[in-house]
Amino acid sequence: MALIVQKFGGTSVGSVERIRQVAEKVKGFRERGDDLVVVVSAMSGETNRLIALAREMQSEPDARELDVIISTGEQVTIGLLAMALKAIDVPAVSYTGPQVRIVTDSAFNKARIQHIDDQRIRADLAAGKVVIVAGFQGVDEQGNITTLGRGGSDTTGVALAAALKADECQIYTDVDGVYTTDPRVVESARRLDKITFEEMLEMASLGSKVLQIRSVEFAGKYNVPLRVLHSFKEGPGTLITLEDDASMEQPVISGIAFNRDEAKLTIRGVPDTPGVAFKILGPVSAANIEVDMIVQNVSQDNTTDFTFTVHRNDLRKAEEVLHKVATEIGAREVGGDGKIAKVSIVGVGMRSHAGVASRMFEALSRDGINIQMISTSEIKISVVIDEKYLELAVRSLHSAFDLDSEPVDRV
Ligand code: ASP
Ligand code: MG
Repeated sequence: MALIVQKFGGTSVGSVERIRQVAEKVKGFRERGDDLVVVVSAMSGETNRLIALAREMQSEPDARELDVIISTGEQVTIGLLAMALKAIDVPAVSYTGPQVRIVTDSAFNKARIQHIDDQRIRADLAAGKVVIVAGFQGVDEQGNITTLGRGGSDTTGVALAAALKADECQIYTDVDGVYTTDPRVVESARRLDKITFEEMLEMASLGSKVLQIRSVEFAGKYNVPLRVLHSFKEGPGTLITLEDDASMEQPVISGIAFNRDEAKLTIRGVPDTPGVAFKILGPVSAANIEVDMIVQNVSQDNTTDFTFTVHRNDLRKAEEVLHKVATEIGAREVGGDGKIAKVSIVGVGMRSHAGVASRMFEALSRDGINIQMISTSEIKISVVIDEKYLELAVRSLHSAFDLDSEPVDRV
């Protein structure tokens, strides 16, 4: 008999009918003999509605009171799901985060879980009940209601699974797993059977928004096997887990992520003296602009070019800062480009394979795609290209790394 934590997202509990379907599904699992803790989100759209309501009262809502308001969405769905289960003769009990005592810090709207009391849940499971817990919320040491940040129900699920030492945390959602890339861009994108925590973090932070990033970090830290599954379609989903040395089926690259939200800035003819990188990027970070990729060229005639990327929304602001800096340090010119895209290949297999970068660059060159910037990490290679070639690049990389077909053996 296994202990499983299951989390159902907003669309899965989006109507009374859907909640009944979830109850049927939960009943099926329970009949197989598993102990179940079920975490639910608010009905889809409900959290947005509650935030809008709070903003009508106060344009910058008081953080503590906002949590009092937005935590109610999940309180509704736990009650409804418990009713639906009882109606089909499954003993069930619902709890809010504070009732369980999911204890967090006091950072309203973005609280972090510190500790979970498992006694009440364990007693109910022992008594044969399905325990239903409200996602996204907790209570601080002073008894204030807190919430965990948007998408936080995933983190509730993982944290409960860690606290209860559950066999698996299953995230039921409106996709049937994690894909090699966005199926809207590459028709032949495949569902992955398995992906590592590290790879998932790279894929998620690059824009494959299946899970809240923090929940993946949490699962990795406590080694909670995490599975993404479709709420209403049968299938094995995608297991997110530790790297498995014995897995010979592991392809070199697991997936291709991309991002259209970046912009590129270049400052040319910068006098190449110590401290110049700081003189350029110091004011940028002082203006609260986050920098992603950074490239500095080899100097020629004692001057160098410096290129970096920022979020596209920050392009104008960053250009202003750079024009000022350029005058101060005597640089020649500043350029900004908002029409770029970043494409990344991700895979732990890169660690044990040579030639991955050249295979990537070869594929791009075959399609005549110019690479503007390159950056690498242990399990990721990213390039910046012209935005208009994004789809083409993702498709050609997908086939160059054999992601269209079945995974190839490691050689
Ligand atoms: N209801 C919350 C939100 O919409 C939490 C969640 O769905 O995970 O962000
Ligand atoms: Mg969600």
